[in-house]
Amino acid sequence: MAATRASASIDTLVAFAKRRGFVFLSSEIYGGFAAVYDYGPYGALLARNIRDAWWRAMVQEHANIVGLDSSIFMSPRVWEASGHVANFSDPLAECKRCHTRVRVDHLLEVAGVFADEKMSDEEINVLLRENKEKVRCPQCGGSDFSDAKAFNLLVQSNLGNFTGDWNKQPTYLRGETCQGIYVNFKNVLDTARVKVPFGIAQIGKAFRNEITARQFIFRKREFEQMEMQYFVAPDAMMDAYKEWRAKRWHFYTETLGFRKENIRWHEHENLVFYAKAAHDIEYCFPFGFKELEGVHARGDYDLMQHMKASGVDLMYRDPQTGEKYIPHIVETSVGVDRLFLAVLTEAYEEEDLGEGKTRTVLHLPKVLAPITAAVFPLMKNKPALVTKAREVFDMLSAQYMCEFDDNGNVGKRYRRQDEIGTPYCVTIDFQTLEDNTVTVRDRDTMHQERVAIDMISEYIRKNK
Ligand code: ATP
Repeated sequence: MAATRASASIDTLVAFAKRRGFVFLSSEIYGGFAAVYDYGPYGALLARNIRDAWWRAMVQEHANIVGLDSSIFMSPRVWEASGHVANFSDPLAECKRCHTRVRVDHLLEVAGVFADEKMSDEEINVLLRENKEKVRCPQCGGSDFSDAKAFNLLVQSNLGNFTGDWNKQPTYLRGETCQGIYVNFKNVLDTARVKVPFGIAQIGKAFRNEITARQFIFRKREFEQMEMQYFVAPDAMMDAYKEWRAKRWHFYTETLGFRKENIRWHEHENLVFYAKAAHDIEYCFPFGFKELEGVHARGDYDLMQHMKASGVDLMYRDPQTGEKYIPHIVETSVGVDRLFLAVLTEAYEEEDLGEGKTRTVLHLPKVLAPITAAVFPLMKNKPALVTKAREVFDMLSAQYMCEFDDNGNVGKRYRRQDEIGTPYCVTIDFQTLEDNTVTVRDRDTMHQERVAIDMISEYIRKNK
């Protein structure tokens, strides 16, 4: 990736993502649906590659981490035991002039006042009153707000409620994926031949009634999490925490190649009562540094809560010493969508080619590119070239995601592929018909090399 690059504005990225089929507004023909987005053809591929890269780094490359795919719906008792029914909320205040409801921590943040997410309603209201002169309604500019009230973020459903009895306890769409890991801890322990320390990883949808709905895919109401819970002996937690912080940093800076100036640690100062330590990895999104991933040392809180509420023994017995304890947990948690936006921000460039020429290019890590290779016949009206190009496409597409394009001149085709971050363009020309070689053009350097057809696959693999 280029060393210095001005970052694109969020509006530029939103327009680009729509134009090239990465991200669409949900239900767009009906005017959209707030804070819900769909991935288009290239977006679906990029999101899939993001999930795969995470899964490879977490599950495939760790002998002691196993995967899980638990359901979105769970017993409502899970969310009571976890504390979400009582405490999973954001403080909301209403502007007295225009009646818009706004998150108070965000109001204060814009005014340069830091409100910790663990503050009580009362503490938040004191801050809000103290800073009355500074806070402004984002809708009308007013500065008179009602007291903040806690607004629960869990999304309710009527699943299984056939009587329409609204006093019946609601079921929830899961607010985070890790609860599915905690409640399956014993199942995994009993069946997967794992021994502490070990991890359970999961990728899946989560739902939150987010109030702020104007940050593109950074904050969605339906989103996807990639979470790993690492179970360790109590006295090993802080070492494991250090180890996972280093691994997750490596994932962003080395595996995905994020530039170091775009990523930083943020240490939580006020921890929830059970947490031992918490760091976030923040990325420099177009609207500033914001949380991308959390790496948290959670102690035994989660398993303890579920053990108490379910009455099922979730203790671990050390096979060597016979000692019994509740494992402590180090959690790593990142959103697919947030990482998607970070990847797009990191990769997008409107590159100046000199002589008044520019090109838009996504410098995506090759493992994330939606299309790995585009295959072109030099001319679409020469059947011999087209047939040969089809053969090359069939050969490569068994291994890589490929695109066939015979539309317009080759220069234009290169630009189209640059825009979506395709690392290689393979062109079949007249020389191909003579010696079975093609040109392979590199997205970043724009250099072309002649490569034998039976070596293209190896060439891509080696340069990947
Ligand atoms: P924030 O403070 O930004 O609301 P959070 O601290 O509530 O985030 P966690 O509950 O720790 O987030 O969730 C872990 C990760 O899941 C986050 O780091 C983020 O990448 C992702 N995530 C959380 N909420 C959303 C959302 N509404 N849309 C997209 N991704 C999200």
